[in-house]
This record gives sequence, structure tokens and C-alpha cells, in this order.
Amino acid sequence: MHPLLARALLALALVLAGGLLGGWAGQAWHEAAPGVLAGAVLGLALFGAQDAWRAGRLLQWLRGPQDEAAPRDTGLWGELGYRVERSLRQRDQALRSEGQRLAQFLSAIEASPNGVVLLDAQDQIEWCSHVAADHFGLDPQRDRLQRITNLVRAPSFVAYLQGSVAAGEALILPAPRAARTLSVTVRAYGDGQRLLLTQDITDRERSDAMRRDFVANVSHEIRTPLTVLAGFVETMASLPLSDVERQRMLALMTQQTARMQALVADLLTLARLEGSPRPATDQWVDAAALLEQALADGRALSGGRHRIELSLQAAGELAGNRGELLSAVGNLVNNAVRYTPDGGRIGVRFALRDGGGAEIEVSDDGPGIAREHLPRLAQRFYRVDGSRSRETGGTGLGLAIVKHVVQRHGGELAIDSEPGKGSRFRLLLPPARLRAAETLPRRDAATPTLPQLT
Ligand code: ADP
Repeated sequence: MHPLLARALLALALVLAGGLLGGWAGQAWHEAAPGVLAGAVLGLALFGAQDAWRAGRLLQWLRGPQDEAAPRDTGLWGELGYRVERSLRQRDQALRSEGQRLAQFLSAIEASPNGVVLLDAQDQIEWCSHVAADHFGLDPQRDRLQRITNLVRAPSFVAYLQGSVAAGEALILPAPRAARTLSVTVRAYGDGQRLLLTQDITDRERSDAMRRDFVANVSHEIRTPLTVLAGFVETMASLPLSDVERQRMLALMTQQTARMQALVADLLTLARLEGSPRPATDQWVDAAALLEQALADGRALSGGRHRIELSLQAAGELAGNRGELLSAVGNLVNNAVRYTPDGGRIGVRFALRDGGGAEIEVSDDGPGIAREHLPRLAQRFYRVDGSRSRETGGTGLGLAIVKHVVQRHGGELAIDSEPGKGSRFRLLLPPARLRAAETLPRRDAATPTLPQLT
């Protein structure tokens, strides 16, 4: 039955029952009519009282936190309580799942390597991801509702937010509290709100700068011999030269051509190293044979001007690419020969390392290198003495190739040097790249170890 009908029937029943009771009681005193009226009023009052009590219970529950269930009741108040409770629970549930969705959405934004800041129409921070907070040196909680230009005061940033930069264009900005470079983009959304996107572009900027330097260096390295060659060609074409002069010029031209050839060969080697996968770990190269080959090349280059000695302190095989390893050791021996004055000593050594793995060492008692150059020595085109390097046919890329090769084999290049005492270059290779032989060969045990640097 409809609760309103039930309620009307209850009220009617109480009034009727009260009236009948009043009429019956009144009859005893021969006053039936006032008795009926008084009984009906009493019935109505009873109905009102129970109604007020049930409404009060529901109101009390509604005023509270509604943690417990609504008061269980029948009829209209029961249904009212049930329906109010159900819509409240549904609203709570909807709020909870909205909250969860928002939290999920925000944690997806937090997972981005880029930063996000939401600004209201007054440029106050509504929300800020941890990455953006880190970029700008903000505190996501503490700085909420702060005007961002009060916290990030760089004039270029303030001007950018004020719209003096074309829409969509990014602002490049030094990070306020770290030596990093940021790219900041602003986008409008909603009702005057703005979305601020931040990206750490330090590495990108660095590699762009490196690429620019590299191109500039290569151009410079090629332009110099080309200019010399062009000069000689012009001279030979325009001037009558004696045979001796002609021969001298041709010799110099050959030298410049060789320089360019060496540079192009080294550039191609570097490009190949960068573009190819890591060397296999199941192709084994005999260390002794590798070093003997490098030594033979070094002796040929030296032409007897140096004492070059091999010291094999262990026997073993190295996993990797023979060509690459030979080019690394060859470059080190080549440098030792080129930089060590005539009569100097050069040592090539293979040994096992204490903590596992192997090392290939090339040492000399040449001029040595000052400490401040060591960290940059393996950078492309870095030279301590440019003219000495070029005079001896150096491209400035040798150690960059060595470092690349050893890193591709999971190892590292260690350099120790002291001016006046000589240099020691070591290729440190990890245990995974070594298959050591059980027995140590004693074939050159008598060979003294070469320049020892402290
Ligand atoms: P380069 O072609 O100029 O030799 P590298 O990359 O091989 O280029 O070497 C970088 C620089 O390191 C050289 O220019 C030289 O100044 C220095 N260097 C390398 N090996 C030695 C060495 N054995 N003794 C002294 N200096 C060296």
C-alpha cells in the first residue's frame, strides 16, 4: 500500500478509535457527543505525537554524521529514512570513486618525467606535481594557493606568464635551485586557468652542444689540411717549379692527405662503434696474440727508436670483438710511440685483476700528462699539445675510440700519468669477459715491468 494512504488510514483509525472510545465513555454519563469529540481529538493528538517522535528520530540521524544506518521504521517515515540513507550512501560512493579516479589520474601525471602545475585565474598554484616542484624548488603542499610568480621570480618566467611570448612557444629557463636547464610551456584551459608543463632538457642541451662542437671540430680538422692542399695545388698550377720544389710539395701534400685519411678512418670507426650492438660475449680472442699483434704494429711505427716490451703475466682469452680490441690496444701503443721521445721505454702488459677480470696496460716513460688534463683526455679532439699531436699524425680521436671500445666490452679506461714520469693507460675488463688459462706462461718472466707510476 502507498505509505501516504497507509498514513491517512492510520490517522483515520486513531481518530475513529478515539471517537468510539470517547462516545462509549461519554454514554456512561449520558454525554456521547462531547465524548466522541474529545476521543477524536485525543486520537489525533496521539497520531501527531507518534508522528513527531518518528520525525524527530530521523531528523536527529540526519543532523549527525550518518555513520550508522538510518532509524528503522515503517510507513512513510521508514521509507523516507531508507530513501534518504540510500541517496546519501550513493553520493558517498560516487564521491569515493571520483576521488579514486582523481587520485589515479594525478598519480599518472606524477609518473611522467615532465612536471605539471595547474594555475587558477590568478596564477595561484592549484596543484603541482612532484617533478614540477623539484624543477622549480617548490613544496607541493606548502605552496598551494601561492601565486607562482612570488615563488619563481626569474624575470623571463614572469614575462612569459604575462603573455609576452607567443602562445605555444617554450621558455628555456635555468632551474632556480639546480644547475639544470628547463623548458617551460604554458597552455590555457577551463575558465582562465592555465597548465604549466616543465621539462628538464639539460641532457638534450648538453648533447646538442656536443654535436655542435663535434661538427665544428670535424670541419676545422678537415679545413686545415684542405687549405694547405689547395694552396699547393694553386702554386703548382701557377708557378714554374723546379723538380726539387715539386717533389717537396708533393711530399707535403701526401702528408696532408694522409692526415685527412686518418681523420676520416677514425670518424668512421667511431660511427661504427656507436651504431653497432655490443660485442658478443661468446667470441673469444687470445690475449697474447692480440697484444703481440699490437706490439708488432708499434715496433713498425717506432722503427727501433724505442724499447718496446711485452709482459704476459697470465694467459687467457677475452670475450669480444677482436678488431675493436686490437684497435683499442693499437691506439694506446701508437700514442706511446708518438709521444715518447726516442730512446724511451714502452711496456705492454696483460694481467689478471685482483677482484676478477683482466687488464691490458700500456705504459711509457714519456713526457707524462698534467693532472688537470686527465678527466678530459678521452674526449673527442681533446689534446694536451695540439701541434705535437698533429705533427705526429694524431687525429685527437684515438683515446675516444679506446674508451668507447672498452666501455662496449663492459670495462673502463683508467689513466695514470705524471709530468716527467710517464703515463700508464689501462683497459680494465670485467670477469664476464675473461676466460683465464689454468697455467701462467713464463715465456717473458725475465722482462722487467715497465715504468711504474705511483
Ligand atoms: P691524438 O691523436 O692527439 O694523440 P688521442 O685521443 O689519442 O689523440 O690522445 C689525446 C691526447 O692525450 C693527445 O693529444 C696527447 O696530448 C695526450 N696523450 C695520449 N697518449 C699520451 C701518452 N702516451 N703520453 C703523453 N700524452 C699522451
